[in-house]
Amino acid sequence: MGEDSANGWFMFDVIIAGCGPTGAMLAAELRLHDVRVLVLEKEPEPVPFVRALGLHIRSIEVMAMRGLLDRFLERGKQYPVGGFFAAITRPAPEGLDSAHAYVLGIPQPIIDELLEEHALELGAQIRRGREVVGFAQDDEGVTVELADGERLRSRYLVGCDGGRSTVRKLLGVGFPGEPSRTETLLGEMEVGVPQEEVIAKVTEVRETNKRFGLGPFGEGIYRVVVPAEGVSDRAEPPTLEDFRRQLRAIAGTDFGVHSPRWLSRFGDATRSAEHYRVGRVLLAGDAAHIHPPTGGQGLNLGVQDAFNLGWKLAARIRGWAPDGLLDTYEAERHPVAEDVLNNTRAQMELLSTEPGPRAVRELLTELMQFDEVNRYLIEKITAIGIRYDFGEGPDLLGRRLRDIDLKQGRLYDRTHQGRGLLLDPTETLSVDGWSDRVDVIADPTAALDVPAALLRPDGHIAWIGENQQDLNDHLTRWFGKPAN
Ligand SMILES: Cc1cc2nc3c(=O)[nH]c(=O)nc-3n(C[C@H](O)[C@H](O)[C@H](O)COP(=O)(O)OP(=O)(O)OC[C@H]3O[C@@H](n4cnc5c(N)ncnc54)[C@H](O)[C@@H]3O)c2cc1C
Repeated sequence: MGEDSANGWFMFDVIIAGCGPTGAMLAAELRLHDVRVLVLEKEPEPVPFVRALGLHIRSIEVMAMRGLLDRFLERGKQYPVGGFFAAITRPAPEGLDSAHAYVLGIPQPIIDELLEEHALELGAQIRRGREVVGFAQDDEGVTVELADGERLRSRYLVGCDGGRSTVRKLLGVGFPGEPSRTETLLGEMEVGVPQEEVIAKVTEVRETNKRFGLGPFGEGIYRVVVPAEGVSDRAEPPTLEDFRRQLRAIAGTDFGVHSPRWLSRFGDATRSAEHYRVGRVLLAGDAAHIHPPTGGQGLNLGVQDAFNLGWKLAARIRGWAPDGLLDTYEAERHPVAEDVLNNTRAQMELLSTEPGPRAVRELLTELMQFDEVNRYLIEKITAIGIRYDFGEGPDLLGRRLRDIDLKQGRLYDRTHQGRGLLLDPTETLSVDGWSDRVDVIADPTAALDVPAALLRPDGHIAWIGENQQDLNDHLTRWFGKPAN
């Protein structure tokens, strides 16, 4: 058993600061392995602000892998993939490598609600109106201090507390990058002119200015996005008058906007935590990386951080984690976040109205007529192109496996419990010794291009081959020693 198994006196194994999408997803992943989880959320009630507008392919796959897809589909709307890189509109090429190749439009408050519901169903405790203000870690665990003075003890603390993360600051981890240079106003409100008029004007203005947007959002509400240049006081929340002025400046009309539901502003600060783990304290989601929302990747990135971390931290707590497994969280996810940061930096340049960036944008638009260029950018934004470095091997090694057809049902229907999985069309291999952690599907009909594959709980391919001894070595590498 691992180093943490003896400390049975902790009331919780893991405390998570923050119940955004990252914290809720992580809580659920930990509960799949019976880890005792407490989520502390400073807001007494969920916030209604709509930041993210939907899920990209890999996150949709993640929901399918945990049996959540039906409830997400019920509350969302499917759109074709395409037009995400710097808002360059080009449909996706044929044959994207996914059974779920669409965008799921679903406002963030609903995503948050569904993930919180999932975590609660699996037995996570979530306490709202509880703000983490301090912590101290020692060899055995972490003492977490709340704003009301209460102290709680757990083996690990994970900061999923957003871009201004208290946990990250207290941890003293550097957050290098660039401060915000370009500010944008975002709000939801009603308009005083007919929809056709709005659409015609918006189409005209967006020909030259991609940082402007005004679109219907249901129930007569419009989502308005306008540059904040000239709206000087960054410390104060924007007013409806600020929106009117900016709209008039950019579109020549304020569309008669009125009755705002909420008004906010966001910047394009781009930063990444130097470390995702210090001892028993970890960071995930916006607490570990921030970047502008171009391409709609932040929430997706955070949910996928949680998906990568959950089973590894659970393995550590349950005592079967091989040496170094928890360190692979940072090793794998830090480069992924760096790549997202870089592609958003590039997209922000391409949204500029300056002649130079506009020329580059035109050139890239031409290049995207080549299927391979278009495919490369789509796989990047939707995160299905990620390949973790698991060493030398076939191209599939380190990639996630798509939801393939099986003799009975589909692959992702068999991954709801978050366990490892040997997919063995050869019907000759075994996971004896690891069957408490790893399932087997021996199915000669499985549409797999390699003899057999070992999947981690996050669906990434950890081994490809047909030799039992080689498989045993890789089972040990990822799932620890065999049970006696
Ligand atoms: C305008 C805008 C549009 C966006 N559009 C998209 C999009 O289309 N697609 C996409 O993928 N992403 C988008 N994003 C990014 C996305 O909203 C974030 O990346 C995502 O919310 C990050 O999730 P999180 O759980 O890591 O952090 P958060 O959602 O910020 O959640 C952190 C939680 O921690 C709580 N908290 C903070 N401090 C404490 C504390 N000390 N103690 C306890 N609790 C605490 C907060 O109240 C909050 O509930 C957008 C962002 C913006 C601003």
